[in-house]
Amino acid sequence: MRFSDSINEVPKIGPKYGRRLRKMGIISVGDLLYHFPSRYEDFSSLTKIKNLRRDKPATIKGKVKAIEAGKTNRKKVPYAQAIIQDSTGAVKIIWFYQPYLANSIKKGESIYISGEPSYGREGLQFINPSYEKEKDETIHTGGLIPIYPETQGISSRWLRYVLKPLIKRLAPKIPEVLPQEVIEKYNLLTIDKAIEKIHFPKTEKEKKRARERFSFERLFFIHLAAMRKKLSIKSESSSPIEIDMEYVKDFVEGLPFKLTDAQKKAAWQILKDLEKPHPMNRLLEGDVGSGKTVVATMAILATTKDNYQAALMAPTEVLATQHFKKVSDLLEGFKLNIGFLTGKKDKFKSKKLKKQFIEISREKLLEKVEIGEIDLLIGTHALIQDKVTFDNLGLVIVDEQHRFGVKQRAKLCKKDTIPHLLSMTATPIPRTLALTLYGDLDISIIDELPEGRKKIETRVVNEKERGRIYSFVEKELKKERQAFFICPRIEKPDEEDETPWADVTSVEELAEKLKKQFTEFKVATLHGQLTATKKAKIMEDFKNKKIDILVSTSVIEVGIDIPNATVMVIEGAEMFGLAQLHQFRGRVGRSEKKSYCFLFSGSNSEKSIKRLKALVESENSFELAEKDLKLRGPGDLAGKRQWGVAGFTMEALKDRKTVQKTKEAASDLLEKDFKLEKYSTVKRKLKSVEKNLHFE
Ligand code: ADP
Ligand code: MG
Repeated sequence: MRFSDSINEVPKIGPKYGRRLRKMGIISVGDLLYHFPSRYEDFSSLTKIKNLRRDKPATIKGKVKAIEAGKTNRKKVPYAQAIIQDSTGAVKIIWFYQPYLANSIKKGESIYISGEPSYGREGLQFINPSYEKEKDETIHTGGLIPIYPETQGISSRWLRYVLKPLIKRLAPKIPEVLPQEVIEKYNLLTIDKAIEKIHFPKTEKEKKRARERFSFERLFFIHLAAMRKKLSIKSESSSPIEIDMEYVKDFVEGLPFKLTDAQKKAAWQILKDLEKPHPMNRLLEGDVGSGKTVVATMAILATTKDNYQAALMAPTEVLATQHFKKVSDLLEGFKLNIGFLTGKKDKFKSKKLKKQFIEISREKLLEKVEIGEIDLLIGTHALIQDKVTFDNLGLVIVDEQHRFGVKQRAKLCKKDTIPHLLSMTATPIPRTLALTLYGDLDISIIDELPEGRKKIETRVVNEKERGRIYSFVEKELKKERQAFFICPRIEKPDEEDETPWADVTSVEELAEKLKKQFTEFKVATLHGQLTATKKAKIMEDFKNKKIDILVSTSVIEVGIDIPNATVMVIEGAEMFGLAQLHQFRGRVGRSEKKSYCFLFSGSNSEKSIKRLKALVESENSFELAEKDLKLRGPGDLAGKRQWGVAGFTMEALKDRKTVQKTKEAASDLLEKDFKLEKYSTVKRKLKSVEKNLHFE
């Protein structure tokens, strides 16, 4: 058997498990060996049941007093439920989706349970903990016990059972992917040892060395991929844009405000890039309200002045509409033809027209784009990408989509040069990530807000204070201000839902309550299951003050501009990442009016209190992003969503020293052998890393 063989070749993996593994992206034997534990348990250190504490990881040992299978009432989620007892007390255990455990674990058996206890109706309980029967212990231990990321249908014990013999057989044959000189210089474990020790370490030290080696490996390849990407983009050609500085200055002088220094600097970097004969690949990073749109508009103006076209794309129709209004306002008087491409009503603003727009057919609009009559086209990502051909596209600006590949860009344009790319984001990227996952991009940061912005008063609050908060909200509404409420979920939970977030209010539920509470005011809901048109309508109504309170899920996150909203209430705040909470908070405080953010949190765990406190104390999103990265647990889903990486890679990215070291190692290697001609295994591995990282 070889590293590249299909998992079907592995003994003990039948078709059923094969399917489940493939669903997790584990296709080859190599993938399986690279499926690393998320943590390890030391079953030699036990906690008495009476000493269990909420959210504090612990292993207990006790006898099974009762065990049964069942299904939750409404959603029919199957589960097994047990009571485990030791000499000091008893505790309830629930395994969702594993009803069969009620057969395999027997009443009276002695068992180890390991996990983080949470609060249920009847006190502390374990949800989906890992377990070991006492008699199994000798098979599964002999050191630290690896616990793999939780997945339906693939248990850690099954993985241990498959991996142990597999590693024994294969370890000496695993191809080394790091260059020998790198292993020596940085004193790393070789791959055979590292694979064995990352799955089955005997000591903490072995575990540490193995994880070090793979952290190094991950980051080394991410750097290699990013560096090669960056260099390859720099070797493409684009149309250099001749910047008419006087013209741009006219624009800036006509603005009703003074640019911040950070805006000036970012604009300068962008304009300098546009002048080059190689495509710009720049990310403009800055908090909501920091004035990115104005900076982007300067780039658009410079581009169109030199008779090139520009495109501006946003992730949603709501945001595209907002951009269209904002940018065409800013460009009023500069005689541009601006096209707006949406799902329904395509608009066209001709330089001959003053304020008003004309609606024209999609066909007509695309034709105008193709013959170069439209100077600037605004729309959503999807619409612009698929169907449009520009005559002479010089600049593409994308909002909240960090990359837009060179090939995609080339396709938009009739000419065979690559348009410049400016990507904008309000999500602050921690430094280590900027060096690695974003290493292919040049980054401009707007790290100061325009003068006169008021601090948003932020407070962590509990249920007891709800009445007071509502009175406060009412007072604001009576001043004709508006409020947001954010909930982590849409629907009411299942009656018997015992998942940790079961008691967090839902959008539906809260909206019902608020309608009763605020009878004089209009309450509406917004969530991802609504159609784009419906969402756009609700946002439009909220903007036009036809709605006073908007109850929403996190769909509200990016870029929405409602200056009249002054209150942001977040339910179940501990469910969100810090960066995300900061984004929510940024929805208010967008005018001279004083604004407020209240964070309801049901959790008393030290970790969540620490996180929320960081938010209260800091308004600096970059600082928050760093903290978020540090405080975030391994395998956190938010990491996956936000950065496209999770688990082990996320873990590795937290370590600044390794990030530096691996950067040095990667750049040394590329300097020596840019094409990796003498490093075929490195090259092969790099190919697969590149595929997974989506640098394009
Ligand atoms: P972003 O796109 O980064 O969220 P915008 O460019 O939309 O921010 O700017 C937010 C608001 O602040 C807009 O109304 C804009 O006109 C205004 N603005 C931008 N730059 C400044 C500045 N330097 N001083 C004052 N107001 C500004
Ligand atoms: Mg914006």
